[in-house]
Amino acid sequence: MDKTQQLPKNPAPQEWLAQDLSQNYVASYKPFNFVDGEGVRCSLYVSGCKFSCPGCYNKIAQNFHYGQPYTKELEDEIIQDLSHSYVQGLTLLGGEPFLNTTVCLQLSKRIRAEFGHDKDIWSWTGYTWDELMQESADKLELLSYLDILVDGRFLLAQKDLTLQFRGSANQRIINVPASLAQKQVVLWDKLIK
Ligand code: SF4
Repeated sequence: MDKTQQLPKNPAPQEWLAQDLSQNYVASYKPFNFVDGEGVRCSLYVSGCKFSCPGCYNKIAQNFHYGQPYTKELEDEIIQDLSHSYVQGLTLLGGEPFLNTTVCLQLSKRIRAEFGHDKDIWSWTGYTWDELMQESADKLELLSYLDILVDGRFLLAQKDLTLQFRGSANQRIINVPASLAQKQVVLWDKLIK
């Protein structure tokens, strides 16, 4: 079969839970990059994803045991890196951040405790916004800490490398606080393409 005709998996609501799947592992940490969102960012790639998108940009990190355990030392390093005034914020990627909520919640809560909203938090997810609205409490709690969510599976048939911060045209860059307040998806106001 043509690879563009293969599709990612579609879980039922609350079928996949971090409490059953996450090993609290991280695939990599990339401080001071310019590609994972707006401004200078520190990016944490958590390990484990079950969407199995054909053409996944980080297939090795679909394995929940890939990489290293998340540690207090790494968290302290991330906080120290974020403290520089030229760093705009943290980006969570994977793997699937919403299937690694223990790690992502712990880090997000600490960022809000130490920096308030001086640093923003972006996350990528294979879930769509509508799917997340039907998901488990831990996923909704993580969403509550985010500023920006890039949602949806990567679909090879809609691949477009000219898009801002996403790989396929179905994915959206969502303003999370505005979307939660208005109970409907509000797109990032700096979206150009
Ligand atoms: S959701 Fe992202 S990490 Fe997961 S398989 Fe799809 S492209 Fe890969």
